[in-house]
Amino acid sequence: MSTPFEGFGSLVFNEEEMKDRLPKPVYDSWKKTVLNEGTLDRTTADAIAHAMKRWALENGATHFTHWFQPMTGGTAEKHDAFVEPDANGMPIARFSGKMLIKGEPDASSFPSGGLRATFEARGYTYWDVTSPVFIREEVLCIPTVFVSYNGEALDRKEPLLKSLSALSAAATKVVNVLGDREVKSCRISVGLEQEYFLIDKKFYDQRIDLKLTGRTLFGTPATKGQELDDHYFGSIPMRVKDFMKDVNEQLWKLGIYAKTEHNEVAPGQFELAPIFSEGNIAVDQNQITMDILRKTAEKHGLACLLHEKPFDGINGSGKHNNYSITTDNGQNLFDPGRKPADNIRFLTFICAFIKAVDEYSLLLRMSASCTGNDHRLGANEAPPAIISIYLGSYIEDILYSLAQGKSAPLKKAGEDFNPVAGLAYIPHDNTDRNRTSPVAFTGNKFEFRMLGSSMSASFPNTVLSSIMAESLNEIYEQLKGIKYLQDVREKSLDICRTIIHDHKRILFSGDGYSDEWVKEAKRRGLPNVRSFIESVEVLKDKKIVHLFTSLGVYSEKELEANRRILEEQYDRMMDIEVRTMLEMTRKDVLPAMSAEYHFYQEMQGPKAPKFAAKRVSQLAELVDGTYESVDRMTSLWKEACSEKDDYLCGKKIYDTVVPEMAELRKYIDRYEEIASRNFYHLPLYEDMLFSL
Ligand code: ADP
Ligand code: MG
Repeated sequence: MSTPFEGFGSLVFNEEEMKDRLPKPVYDSWKKTVLNEGTLDRTTADAIAHAMKRWALENGATHFTHWFQPMTGGTAEKHDAFVEPDANGMPIARFSGKMLIKGEPDASSFPSGGLRATFEARGYTYWDVTSPVFIREEVLCIPTVFVSYNGEALDRKEPLLKSLSALSAAATKVVNVLGDREVKSCRISVGLEQEYFLIDKKFYDQRIDLKLTGRTLFGTPATKGQELDDHYFGSIPMRVKDFMKDVNEQLWKLGIYAKTEHNEVAPGQFELAPIFSEGNIAVDQNQITMDILRKTAEKHGLACLLHEKPFDGINGSGKHNNYSITTDNGQNLFDPGRKPADNIRFLTFICAFIKAVDEYSLLLRMSASCTGNDHRLGANEAPPAIISIYLGSYIEDILYSLAQGKSAPLKKAGEDFNPVAGLAYIPHDNTDRNRTSPVAFTGNKFEFRMLGSSMSASFPNTVLSSIMAESLNEIYEQLKGIKYLQDVREKSLDICRTIIHDHKRILFSGDGYSDEWVKEAKRRGLPNVRSFIESVEVLKDKKIVHLFTSLGVYSEKELEANRRILEEQYDRMMDIEVRTMLEMTRKDVLPAMSAEYHFYQEMQGPKAPKFAAKRVSQLAELVDGTYESVDRMTSLWKEACSEKDDYLCGKKIYDTVVPEMAELRKYIDRYEEIASRNFYHLPLYEDMLFSL
């Protein structure tokens, strides 16, 4: 019987394929490299390249590319054909170990934040052996890191890989010292839930704000919003089903376990979640997924919007980063097991996490920042901009009773919470799932919910892994050298008590969207950074520089470059938004307003309906208001741009231009509410959100 999953993984040069096609010593040498126990020599690389080329040609590939992730947040590739002339001028397919391992794209068109002087445009890509090679659109894609001539990271993959090694070393030491000597390495497991909107392509094409900025810069919420809650988990429209089927089939062929799909809260909004995988691979696969979503939508006459807030007045989109740490023999270190209160290793890892998040909450918040996310974080829908951890009352009770010196849990574990034999711990009740928390413990993993839907998950996982590594290193320093295991265990409980005592302010299980929480968080001294541009400054902080440099994840120079790139990105994105908004106002909105004004003006006279006069004065007010706002915005913009550096410019944009954009939007939205389609031609929210 054939199943829809027959071709699963057929376009990935995965481990089985390598085992099958490579001579044993070559395969073993590759495997050692993946496990960080060796390096590839020239002959081995040539042998792998040869097998890879044959596999790629058999599967229809004509080109290869070093696929990398410049600091734009997206991916980049430059295709080279396999074909070359042989000595007789006949075409042959060539692909050497050198071509597999190292590439040299022109780095000058990618952001480097000053790491690369203009005269030294060189950048190099190196094969990331830990992420599998795959074929897309007849191109063999080789995941690579991207570094400058001097070896500084020009991407977000290299630092992620370094943070994963740091975490592996730290977690392994702690696991070993707590008694399990078998474990040799640890890795992170990451499951990324991806939200997105779909609209009809014909509406998308008519809105240059969607095309250039990814979001509607104005637009009145449709008469039917999400009040009825009828979209969430509702039946999926036929067109969308066809689209999802197409997406799934492509993802499966690439070995991506696309699993869950459903309607989201807002109309036109959907979610796709794959089964979790190793962190670096999950991040790569999410990049591929976003690209497939976009391209497949187009094929189906749709546009896929990955922006965090394409429409005002309804929910925006996020990306949930489910995170856990797993040993090389498959144990999840956040798994509470049947008796969490007695599970010292579990308690130690949970407490390490609490300490890490509290100490670096600003950095964690920053890692989820992007221009689009400014419309969500702290704007009453997605998690607030304040970082806190939700543990659920069960685990929280255990920790608090431990902190009070009792070691027994307040509630009995086991029967109540583990109804099905053999199943790991199950949160006992669905109400125990706080959806308003930015960082929630969900059974055996932490779900970091702040990420914007359009973002690469690379940096957030670099941060989570780095702060965990540091926290675990500190714990290890206190445990190492203790002679007896029993004493080690006692000591780790002591450490947990201290952590709970020192960091309990970060634990919060109430409603994260409420105003009371903002006040309470302030009282607790928890930072509340509302904007992307402000959050970026955290990268200057000495403590953060020390964190990354001591773990070998980022050098000070690289951090500085990152900060500069982010500031510049904010300014550029805002530049596009402002200019697009002004352009649409001048080209679409004001002419429509004026024509409509004129229409009602003509209608006036002794027998004209009273309504006409009312409209005339209403429209006059709106036209004037719009004009004045455009003027103000233009001069505020000029003022911001005259600031001497990107940060000051960005800050000024956020403080003065952004509020003016909201002001202008108010006039336009008020007009939209009364506008006639005879004059106003831009697609409305109701067109875009209810047309599938
Ligand atoms: P929900 O919408 O309730 O948060 P989903 O099922 O949509 O849940 O997504 C949960 C995600 O978490 C999936 O990608 C899943 O594979 C992932 N996940 C499950 N267990 C782990 C784990 N131990 N570590 C990391 N991710 C996990
Ligand atoms: Mg979720």
